[in-house]
Amino acid sequence: MEYKTHVVPVKKNIALVAHDKKKEELVEWALRHRDELANHELYATGTTGSLLEKKLSLPIKKFISGPLGGDQQIGALISESKLDLLVFFWDPFESQPHDPDVKALLRIAAVWNIPVACNQSSAEFMFSSDMMGKSHERKIPDYEQYLKSRPF
Ligand code: PGA
Repeated sequence: MEYKTHVVPVKKNIALVAHDKKKEELVEWALRHRDELANHELYATGTTGSLLEKKLSLPIKKFISGPLGGDQQIGALISESKLDLLVFFWDPFESQPHDPDVKALLRIAAVWNIPVACNQSSAEFMFSSDMMGKSHERKIPDYEQYLKSRPF
């Protein structure tokens, strides 16, 4: 795979998702980081987004609920380089009806080299980075080169 550089802006597009038994942890973490979150554009799956909007009193662009397709909506934006960070508190103790979508979201985040925080500790590390407050470059797949490399 050939890569090219994508410039991530200072004001980042951040997607927030938590499975049901992880929503409380996400809310608690988000409340501690409310001031930083307020500097960015926030996106979330339906239920997570409604909850965070209420608790943080910040505007959040809400997708459909995860099990109904919200994870896939987030994945689609990642593949268009329209999301810069993913905070996804997935539940390691419960299987989800939309497990394939969860796996697909994590895969597409890896493909597009998106930083992913899967729990409070990784989210703390992510948000304590000085990269949060400045523009930086990220390597992403070079789709033009990818097309040229296809044998068809
Ligand atoms: P929800 O979806 O925010 O609508 O609960 C989360 C998920 O992907 O399970």
